[in-house]
Amino acid sequence: MTKLTQIPVTVLPGVGPERATHLAELGIKSIHDLLTYYPFRYDDYQIVPPVDAPHEQRVTFKGTIAGTPSMRWYGKKQSRLSIKLEVDGIPITVVWFNQHFLKAKLIYGSTIMVTGKWDREKLQITGDRTFLSQKEQEAHHDQLEPIYSVTSKIRVAWLRKLIMEGFKEYGNQIEEVLPATLRTKYRLISRAKAMYLLHFPKNMQDGHQARRTIVYEELFLYEFRLLWSRLQDRRETKGITRKIPKMALQNMIKSLAFPLTGAQQRVVDEICSDLEAPYQMNRLLQGDVGSGKTVVAALALYANYLSGYQGALMVPTEILADQHATSLQSLLGALGLQVVTLTGNMTAANRREVLGQIQMGLADVVVGTHALIQEKVIYRNLGLVITDEQHRFGVKQRASLREKGEAPDVLMMTATPIPRTLAISVYGEMDVSIIDEMPAGREPITTYWVKKESWERILGFVSKECQAGRQAYIICPLIEESEKLDLANAVELFEQVTMALSPIRVGLLHGRMSSIEKEEIMSLYEQNEVQVLISTTVIEVGVNVPNATVMVIYDADRFGLAQLHQLRGRVGRGGGASTCVLVANPKSETGKERMEIMTETTDGFVISERDLQMRGPGDFLGVKQSGLPEFRLADLTRDQHILEIAREDAKEIIQTKETITPLEYEALLSPMHRVESILD
Ligand code: ADP
Ligand code: MG
Repeated sequence: MTKLTQIPVTVLPGVGPERATHLAELGIKSIHDLLTYYPFRYDDYQIVPPVDAPHEQRVTFKGTIAGTPSMRWYGKKQSRLSIKLEVDGIPITVVWFNQHFLKAKLIYGSTIMVTGKWDREKLQITGDRTFLSQKEQEAHHDQLEPIYSVTSKIRVAWLRKLIMEGFKEYGNQIEEVLPATLRTKYRLISRAKAMYLLHFPKNMQDGHQARRTIVYEELFLYEFRLLWSRLQDRRETKGITRKIPKMALQNMIKSLAFPLTGAQQRVVDEICSDLEAPYQMNRLLQGDVGSGKTVVAALALYANYLSGYQGALMVPTEILADQHATSLQSLLGALGLQVVTLTGNMTAANRREVLGQIQMGLADVVVGTHALIQEKVIYRNLGLVITDEQHRFGVKQRASLREKGEAPDVLMMTATPIPRTLAISVYGEMDVSIIDEMPAGREPITTYWVKKESWERILGFVSKECQAGRQAYIICPLIEESEKLDLANAVELFEQVTMALSPIRVGLLHGRMSSIEKEEIMSLYEQNEVQVLISTTVIEVGVNVPNATVMVIYDADRFGLAQLHQLRGRVGRGGGASTCVLVANPKSETGKERMEIMTETTDGFVISERDLQMRGPGDFLGVKQSGLPEFRLADLTRDQHILEIAREDAKEIIQTKETITPLEYEALLSPMHRVESILD
């Protein structure tokens, strides 16, 4: 039997070359595509009596016309038509906007069905769809109408007929995919039935059952394949097998200025066991801003060094590279490691020297920007690659760093927590470690949201803090004047603040400055020679100046939640109780909501969950490199719960059925194939 994915939709009557082209525009090429071209929502035409109709909801009434229509025009195009309708003995008003053509058809005493938004207080419904003839009324009465996304070339009625045709001809060839055990466990309906009911549900319950079945199936298959291919990867790629001298590592931990948090210790253990294991480590380390990822990276690099390998740490900006190099130097230099920096702005001679050290194996740890992955860089024996703020790097960049050694272990660190659902779906092929505990004695950050009218007061506050020996950041979105957007201008702000706060020293940092200028100003700020730093978002990631306790973000509503959280994380780093002030007059509701979320919590995971809810998964990850799986029906924000269950089920099956051969796996990859026969 030919698979439905291989039967072209043109076998159905009425689908000639032209219509086939139009269907292809919707992604419908095969019978399988057609049968799984699901509606994106359903309109409910269940008839309700007005007494039960919920306020401000879309409802459907059926009643008798009990008056004559009245109509008003507003200008040439806009009209308002209304009429009295008696529904279940209750007189209500129906109003239609810009549907003047209905007027002639509203005949006293006749029965009509109307769908629209119901105003319970005014006893008035705003007609959206109106069914005048008995035939139309019968067709919709108590029905759920599936709504499809189509182009102008395709009529929905025709598409529905074609889908029905498809089921008639090929419905009996739809094979079960899920193992029977799982179907029974979750009381799922058969695959064929579920697919059919999604297009032709008799009621909401049908639709719900069908959706549950298909969503579970999609997510299970996805997770199954993901976990299986990870297992294969581990079997096939030979990573570095090594032994880490635990005593030496323990000694380094003991010599730190602070005890590790429980979470840090756990993550270090997870990394070490990955380093020792024969497979290539592929681990994502999530830890909120300030949770102490740097020291974890240093410990991992040390463990890697102790087992005889070079390590690399890749960061997105030069400022960050310098800063990390300094921290690693102080953590690892004393232990005898040679830490070098490689960035794009080095002198040719300097660069040549560093490249030589890397190639000869004199450099033990290399810190740098994406200069690290350029072809000229040859490592002697790269054993561990770490990326910080990994979301800043594209998939390709990460891959090329991985390819620099012979299957080096890879650790990706991020301070932009990804909600669990996305982490296990998008990064499902990785292991995930989470630092979910802050170092003890962390000073709290209080966040305020104020309007621009309070600017003077904020400057007063900044001035007071600086006089008390603290430092402040003032962040604004753009550096050049853009009247159109009316954004704060960093340069202008710099001049204004310098005057207002004199003699307090104010510095300016923005993306257009040269690396040397940037370094200079950062080092002045680090030494408290500059007390207030006006900056665009170049300092967003990683910058660590513990004495800074005030973060003012101008036009804060122009930033996304993740970015605001990152920016706020620059304070509260050991200098005492800190304050974050969001200065914004947001116009949109979501803008206001973002400001409120920021004042309510400092927990990065909570913020990222809210962010995901507000934006949806595609937007959240950035479509470009999201790597989001595409599901026909499943929705990662809505179906989180099912995803987690499906993942556990997939894991269990893979663990207990290790006997699946690669050939059988191939079969599993095909959506139309029977998994059941393979697994049972
Ligand atoms: P992030 O996770 O944002 O990269 P860092 O690694 O920069 O955080 O750490 C933030 C600050 O916390 C640093 O000054 C670091 O020295 C300090 N720190 C890290 N771990 C601990 C700990 N266990 N106890 C106390 N301070 C710590
Ligand atoms: Mg960091």
